[in-house]
Amino acid sequence: MLIIKSVDEMKRHMKDIKKQGRSIGFVPTMGYLHEGHMSLIKRARGENEVVVVSVFVNPTQFGPNEDYERYPRDEERDKKMCEEAGCDILFMPNKDDMYRENYSTYVEVYGLTEGLCGAKRPGHFRGVATIVTKLFNIVKPDRAYFGQKDAQQLAVIKRMVKDLDFDIEIVGCEIVRDVDGLALSSRNTYLSEEERKQAPILYKSLLKAKEEIEKGERASEKLIDLIKTTILEMPDAQIDYIEIVNNETLKPIEKVEGEVLIALAVKFGKTRLIDNMAVRV
Ligand code: AMP
Repeated sequence: MLIIKSVDEMKRHMKDIKKQGRSIGFVPTMGYLHEGHMSLIKRARGENEVVVVSVFVNPTQFGPNEDYERYPRDEERDKKMCEEAGCDILFMPNKDDMYRENYSTYVEVYGLTEGLCGAKRPGHFRGVATIVTKLFNIVKPDRAYFGQKDAQQLAVIKRMVKDLDFDIEIVGCEIVRDVDGLALSSRNTYLSEEERKQAPILYKSLLKAKEEIEKGERASEKLIDLIKTTILEMPDAQIDYIEIVNNETLKPIEKVEGEVLIALAVKFGKTRLIDNMAVRV
């Protein structure tokens, strides 16, 4: 596995690979890798001749009071895991090389970014769309892999790729969960032992809602109430949002029909966790 840190070197290298006509699969990450990331890398491995993973904690997607500084980092472990999953090129740029002096260009995706996490994290998706655009221009992938875990991010990237005519196939990948149902996330490491015990309630509450839908319930309000009461059984849970939206427009719906997304964000202590479930009616 080749490790490249310089943006210019990465551009040169990817240009050469492109010339050889080999297909390139790309998995952008912020590192501190887990089985969720590994599933994306393995999928990319199965579908492309060259697999590129990036590890970059992107400062522009963090708000001023968020966890940019304390976001978990472990380069050596990430290198090992990437190699194990079948990565060919690991791109680990530093922030000053990605955002050079006088950096002043940002990508905004309107319509999909105002609600859900966008409402709670102003500027977050602008940072995401900007860094993903930059990475796409550097890596020039044929396919890029994103987790359904970050459902709004996946929708935003799909829309951006369509709107800006990127010639890249966006592949959405299933959520990988721990045995007790908690969606894997680099941020789970912030949870205290007690909070970690309570956190699987998020998945359980989503499953409960799905069961109710299967039994015939269609009123979003009732389903949201059910999720809320279930989650609030846990003493340390503080709800950030619970919403039922159309899976494509991400707009809230009153009645469950078609492709819907049940999405939530809940804090345990200082740690904000997100989870979601797509349901087709
Ligand atoms: P992150 O490092 O958190 O920015 O995530 C990098 C990519 O991995 C994103 O496309 C995430 O959606 C995806 N990802 C993170 N956690 C999971 C998970 N538990 N299952 C599937 N994909 C995930």
